[in-house]
Amino acid sequence: MTEAMHLVLIVEDDAAIQNILRMLFEANGFRVVVADTAARGEQDARLHRPDILVVDLGLPDRDGLNVITSVRLWSPVPIIVLSARTAETQRLAAFERGADDYIMKPFSAPELLARVRATVRRHVRGELPMGVLALGDVTVDLGRRTAQRRDGREVRLTPLEHRILETLARHGDRIVTHAALIREVWGPHRDDSRSLRVYIGSLRRKLEAEPSRPRYILTEPGVGYRLNTELDDASKPGD
Ligand code: CA
Repeated sequence: MTEAMHLVLIVEDDAAIQNILRMLFEANGFRVVVADTAARGEQDARLHRPDILVVDLGLPDRDGLNVITSVRLWSPVPIIVLSARTAETQRLAAFERGADDYIMKPFSAPELLARVRATVRRHVRGELPMGVLALGDVTVDLGRRTAQRRDGREVRLTPLEHRILETLARHGDRIVTHAALIREVWGPHRDDSRSLRVYIGSLRRKLEAEPSRPRYILTEPGVGYRLNTELDDASKPGD
């Protein structure tokens, strides 16, 4: 496993969750450092230079959002928020400060592990190239702006649909907020979230096997959209 030496910094004050996370990550080949306050978390991030941070928001000294802000001043290290806060405003705030992912408590350990691994892997290999995007049955050539099914049939995407897909691809597997997507596709000063939904729906009908249960163009409720390109590593055999 390539992540054998990866160090995860857990910033969490709840002892029971600390233990669960420590066991989970150690059992899966990560090294683990635990900080129980925001201040310790920031110090440990500088001291240990972790490969990824898992940050709780409800910390005893300061809000975990401050950890994200403070680390982002000097490091692009991936940060996953693990929080009981379910409000959209909280999730948005975390993403706006630079979190890479947001997982709600109570969490599923396998899902957390999978998302940590995916995030580290994505970070290590950098952004997705602007080349060819494989979304299950459909291959999209972002440079040429063409799309094709495995059987050779062409999939016709409109220029705006291509732009939306390009924008999502440029962000790798990270969530792109509605506002950012609209800004990057339509330009500033637009408030076009309704058309965005329409275009996303149309893209799904063209690219997804089951548009109502998308596997590639995922909705992050209240936040935005995310292109799931990790699927092909993990679930190929069943395809
Ligand atoms: Ca807490």
